Amino acid sequence: MDKADFVMAKEGIELDYKGIWNSALEILKTSLPPSTFEPWITPLKPVMPNEEQFKKGVFVIKSDQAFGVSHLNQKFLPEIQAAVQSSLNKEIPVEIVFVPADVKKAPKKKYKPTEEIALMQEQIDNLKQMHSFCALNLKYTFENFVKGENSKVAYDAAKMVSEAPGQKFNPLFITGSVGLGKTHLMQAIGHNILKNFPKLKVKYAKTEEFTNQLVDSCRNGNDSYNEMRKFREQYRNVDVLLLDDIQFAEGKKRTEEEIFNTFDALFHAGKQIVFASDRPIETFEKTPDRLKSRYEWGLSVEIKQPSLDTRIEIIKKHAKRSNYEISDDVAEFLAKNYSKNIRELEGAYNKVSAYASIQGMELTVENAKNILGFKENQKKITVDEIIKKCAEYFNTTSDLIKGSQRSSEIKSARQAAIYLSREILNLSFPVIAQSFNKNHTTILYSYEKLKKDMELNVSLKENIEKIEELIRN
Ligand code: ADP
Ligand code: MG
Repeated sequence: MDKADFVMAKEGIELDYKGIWNSALEILKTSLPPSTFEPWITPLKPVMPNEEQFKKGVFVIKSDQAFGVSHLNQKFLPEIQAAVQSSLNKEIPVEIVFVPADVKKAPKKKYKPTEEIALMQEQIDNLKQMHSFCALNLKYTFENFVKGENSKVAYDAAKMVSEAPGQKFNPLFITGSVGLGKTHLMQAIGHNILKNFPKLKVKYAKTEEFTNQLVDSCRNGNDSYNEMRKFREQYRNVDVLLLDDIQFAEGKKRTEEEIFNTFDALFHAGKQIVFASDRPIETFEKTPDRLKSRYEWGLSVEIKQPSLDTRIEIIKKHAKRSNYEISDDVAEFLAKNYSKNIRELEGAYNKVSAYASIQGMELTVENAKNILGFKENQKKITVDEIIKKCAEYFNTTSDLIKGSQRSSEIKSARQAAIYLSREILNLSFPVIAQSFNKNHTTILYSYEKLKKDMELNVSLKENIEKIEELIRN
């Protein structure tokens, strides 16, 4: 590389420090509470390293507040470092330095070109590719995903696909309720593929976006041939297609036809396809059989409801990413009260940690309750209370639920009460069994049966959720 090339490469890198930092900011924005992110992180800027830092390959960030630097180094350096590393996909030391606001830029020094430049350039190219083309969220990696009993199979399958795209399970179809980590796992596949096979082209899209683009390209009057070609190129000229929220396509004739053709084109070329849906394939009643059979060709995995322990682990991991110490009892309190949806669990955590830090108060269960508006002396829910509410809903009585009659209303009410006792109170089956005068295998069977039925029957699921709301309020 001669001098002119070197200067160009260096300036390219200087420009891309901003790109790297912007991606790191994206991560930090999701991982730190706004009360930390806004005042502490947004004023930071990347700067060119000095000669020594350059040789060591250090990524340098400046703050114009002397006090800020020590606080940042003490509190947030690991988090900032992790964000920069995950933007670059490389281990790289980070230094935060103090540069007074009014000091003029030091004259640029000339450094010797090193292999590092070429390496960094390659990584920057990868990063650019990742961002412009794949639209992956940098937080959604395997490392940041807690593998619980509920997601073990899905996690392992996703990992295998990412290690040998197009060769293992094709398509991989990930199902599970809203907020349980489908998008996260799907994008983790994308990240891992880009890491293991940097030359492969990965495309992530939500089905809604796919549909909108399709409609737009058909609409585009005179030029629609060209527009369609461009649209198809985007989705077919890839090595890995991650199509999220595929349930959105159900019954949309044109979209499903296009998915079918895209699938066939990719599949026959040995490319990997991953779908995610918040409903199982069996519920796609309006989808033509030939497409349904494509969905079922490879492997379908389900992310189930996480257990209390897994939820606690997830919330602790989330807190750790934002450099926040969360006590065991607060983690347990949150995990117990937000059991259905990890997005809501994380939202609750973000809210309490932001408030606690703005107010400078310790995050205790009491404080968390206040911040989240949990009423003091909130009524204590008991199994009997649940049985009573289910009886009212199904127009029967508590005694009949506890008895052994099997008419359809009583049976439905009984099943709902058993299911909700487990879901709301997290009691063991033998304990629930006592309240219902049954043995615990009957209770277990009844619980599992309703859970399965709810997965296949949306209106049943909505009814049960309605009763749960009545009980909680
Ligand atoms: P879905 O696509 O199933 O609706 P997401 O993938 O968007 O759900 O997950 C919602 C949020 O919960 C995301 O912020 C994600 O990182 C987090 N999350 C879900 N499951 C896990 C897990 N097992 N470990 C860590 N974070 C998780
Ligand atoms: Mg999703």
